[in-house]
Amino acid sequence: MDYKAAERIQDLQYFGEFGGVNPSISDSSTYTFLTAKTMFDTFEGNTEGCYLYSRHSSPSNLYLGEAMAQLEGTESANVFASGMGAISAVIMQLCDSGDHIVCSRTIYGGTYAFLKNFLKKFNITTSFLDITDLDVVANAITPKTKMIYCEAISNPLLEVADIASLSKLAKKHNIPLVVDNTFSPLNIGAAQLGADIVVHSLTKFINGSSDCVAGAVCGTKDFCLGLKDVNNGAGMLFGSTLDSLRAASILKNMRTLHIRIKKHSENAHYLAKQFERDGLKVVYPGLESHPGHELMKTQMNHEYGFGGMLTLDVGSLDQANALMELMQKEKLGYLAVSLGFYKTLFSASGTSTSSEIPEEEQKQLGLSQGLIRFSIGLDNDIHKTYLSMRNCMETLGILSPDTALV
Ligand code: PLP
Repeated sequence: MDYKAAERIQDLQYFGEFGGVNPSISDSSTYTFLTAKTMFDTFEGNTEGCYLYSRHSSPSNLYLGEAMAQLEGTESANVFASGMGAISAVIMQLCDSGDHIVCSRTIYGGTYAFLKNFLKKFNITTSFLDITDLDVVANAITPKTKMIYCEAISNPLLEVADIASLSKLAKKHNIPLVVDNTFSPLNIGAAQLGADIVVHSLTKFINGSSDCVAGAVCGTKDFCLGLKDVNNGAGMLFGSTLDSLRAASILKNMRTLHIRIKKHSENAHYLAKQFERDGLKVVYPGLESHPGHELMKTQMNHEYGFGGMLTLDVGSLDQANALMELMQKEKLGYLAVSLGFYKTLFSASGTSTSSEIPEEEQKQLGLSQGLIRFSIGLDNDIHKTYLSMRNCMETLGILSPDTALV
């Protein structure tokens, strides 16, 4: 697949006010107009080249939006104050009261809670199902269904969605396919594979420094303008606007995304292979044992690898907690939620980022209490990291010292 997203991002050139190599930051909430007529026209939606008010748009947010559009290869993109700000705006923009959503059953806990609990207020219902079973997905679509929603690589179980097939199905029913590509920016070109709308939490890999929350929606120009509409736009009216200073700093971090993703993937793949040889219960899309491995190979951009996320099931919550505490003590990473940091981050998903999903449902999904989700960091010597992690597991009896070192 000819995937030139990194080159497209690199080719974007915006100069600062005084010829700076970075664009100037728009440090204003409001903008002056030379004539009252232009102000009126801007309110009417003729916004080309004009700024109104920073909740609507600002130069810094447009620059970052442009970079996000280049990442996904979409016509346009809007940025938001968080991933959930982006996701909730898309869903509220597409659904009316009484509508229905078809959604993967393994998704980020916040998205699950929004769909399952919050949307009850609007009588919007969601069928949570196995997104890898296309017949099940097709059978769940009703005349009230307004979208198919999934994550390209799911949080936390790392299921791989067949985006091209889901897109065909969505098109057949004339509904959009919305894909959250937070776990796999550059690894998977979700829009290129057929997603109509791609959402991202920029908080994670894209920003990469765990210092802010932000989100983005990538889609057609019409959809993105609609989100900003002063009368009906969920982005404009819910007001989950990203601050310009943050937009500027995320844009700068995004320029190294291609290098970071390659290293995250290389390190995660190395650890996954070693853990599997050690007989541990590891899940990683790059392993042949992963049920989505072959599919992943057909839809990934190979130079970026299989991504930086893996899971390890160590049998019980007590063991998981003990291992995470020990790994943190040994400076192997942080016991923290989130992902995409230079340090490895680990958390037990069932009691943290997926705790919104009732325990009974977690069991049905195969999300056990002993499952640790790892976001693998940019460690320079990953073999050394592996040996130290192995030591921690031996200390806790998770791994027998007799297991041969490879
Ligand atoms: N989507 C996925 C896959 C996530 O993992 C998260 C957060 O963990 C979100 C969306 C929400 O993003 P944010 O925390 O930026 O609102």
